[in-house]
Parts: sequence; structure tokens; C-alpha cells
Amino acid sequence: MTIDFHTHTRFSDGSTTPTQNAELAAIQGVRGLAITDHDTMAGWDEAAEACAAKGLIFVPGIELSAEQDARSVHLLGYWVDPAHPGLRAECERLRGERSRRALEILDRLALLGIEISLRDVLVHAGDAPIGRPHIAAAMVAAGAVVDIEAAFDDYLADSGPAYVPKHALSPERAVELLIAAGGAAVLAHPGLPPDGAPISEALLDRLAGAGLSGIEADHASHDAPTSARWRRIAADRDLLVTGSSDFHGEGKAVKIGERTASIKILEALRARAGRRSQPW
Ligand code: AMP
Ligand code: ZN
Ligand code: FE
Ligand code: FE
Repeated sequence: MTIDFHTHTRFSDGSTTPTQNAELAAIQGVRGLAITDHDTMAGWDEAAEACAAKGLIFVPGIELSAEQDARSVHLLGYWVDPAHPGLRAECERLRGERSRRALEILDRLALLGIEISLRDVLVHAGDAPIGRPHIAAAMVAAGAVVDIEAAFDDYLADSGPAYVPKHALSPERAVELLIAAGGAAVLAHPGLPPDGAPISEALLDRLAGAGLSGIEADHASHDAPTSARWRRIAADRDLLVTGSSDFHGEGKAVKIGERTASIKILEALRARAGRRSQPW
């Protein structure tokens, strides 16, 4: 009876549809599935329907981009109101910011001898907010790198020569926004360096003060000591521990359901979310 608390779809930088995520979740035997696309809630309607068809619990979520010291910090928000004006405005702003930043990344790549056009990137991004994985896919298609990993390792990683940060809210403000939108906020993959510097405990204390409900200690990229460390840190602060695959489809070698958390965690998190009137 487990829930995968963090998966992506084509509505951001995943390669599958929400329907495919639900089908894969059913095959993997999980009981519930969160859809947590980057900076958008556009996949929820399809996901809710597909989860219902498969008898899965649907957990509506978003992975909101925040920024600390020019590094990305990701906050997961669950059961937020998709019509909340402040959250919608921030998602729209981030979409524009992602387009602006993509052009800046492409300029940097050009200086490094790699010519990729915005059109090349849009082949992969479609209508989704543009993410680095879309740029990486365009680089692979152009033959500039052998695979997505190489694109990140050599160019796009936070410490890479073509990296450009997004202008985003501070993590504390992001937590406040998710809560204001009626959701429960969870810190995503705190031990994952490729997505940003490892989170400091000082920052975590500030997030706890802002109303954070949980920490994604059981993320697929965390090795056992990293998960154990963040479980301890969560327990010390009375925060819930969630688990997830952070599935992205083809881009990453991870399966839905590879890491999960229990239904008890789902219920505790649900109780922390302010909003009660939505259908999910
Ligand atoms: P962005 O939102 O544009 O900053 O891109 C962040 C996304 O890039 C993450 O959610 C991951 O999907 C992906 N990503 C970050 N670092 C790596 C990496 N080292 N290898 C593969 N994918 C990565
Ligand atoms: Zn992603
Ligand atoms: Fe993330
Ligand atoms: Fe993610």
C-alpha cells in the first residue's frame, strides 16, 4: 500500500503522458500516484481520470522551482488550489522566465561551439515550460553529446559552463505560497547535488518555520546513508518523510514506484493541507 509521491510527465520535462504514468504505476503495483510537474498543474485533469480508471489514489502535486544562492531548490506542493491567483501567477512568471533563460543557455552553448536553436528545443518541449532536459535532448539530437547525462555532466549541470539560474522565489517564499494556495509543502530531494547544492540544515530550519510539512528523504537518487541522514533530520523536526521515484520517462533510468511512502504518510500530509473542498 504505497504511494509514489513525485513523478513527471510531458506537461513538464517527462516523456510520458499522465495516462501512461498511471498505467505504469498500476503495473508496478503502487496504490497511489502523485503528478508533480515542474511549475505547472496542467496534467492534473488527465491524471485524475487515468488514476480513477486504474483504481489508483491520485495525489495532485506541483514541483515549484525556488532559488537559493543561484542554485535551484525544489518544493513539492500537494493538493494546492489550481485556481489560486498567486500560484497561477508564479507559474506563468516561471514559464516566461524559463523561456528567457533557455535563450541565455543557448547563447552560452553557442560560445562553447554548440549551435542549437530555440526551435530545436521546442521540438522536445512542445507546450511545456522549457527545462534543461529539453535542451539536453536537443543537444543529443544534434549530435553534440552522446546522451542526456553527458549534456548535463559537460554543460548543463548547476556547476556546468552553460548553466544559467532561473530567477525564482526564495525557498521560504515558495513554501509560503504553496501553503497560501491551500496545499502541504515538502522539500524535494534534499540530498541531490546535481539539482542544486545539498540543502543546509540552516535553510531547513527556515523552511520548517515557514510551515514545511515534510522532507523527501526517500528519493530515488539518494543512497542509503543519504536517506537515513535526512530521515533523522526530519524526525528531529517532527517533519513527515516522503518517498518517490521522481520518474521522468525515458530521460532517467528509474521506474515508477522505485521509492514510495505509505498511505499513513499520505493521510498525515493530507491532514496538513488546508484545502478540503476539492474532488481529489
Ligand atoms: P530545470 O528545471 O530547467 O532547472 O531542470 C531541472 C531538471 O533537470 C531536473 O528536474 C531533472 O529532471 C534534470 N536534471 C538535473 N540535473 C540532471 C542531471 N545531472 N542529469 C540528468 N537530468 C538532470
Ligand atoms: Zn525534471
Ligand atoms: Fe527536482
Ligand atoms: Fe522532479
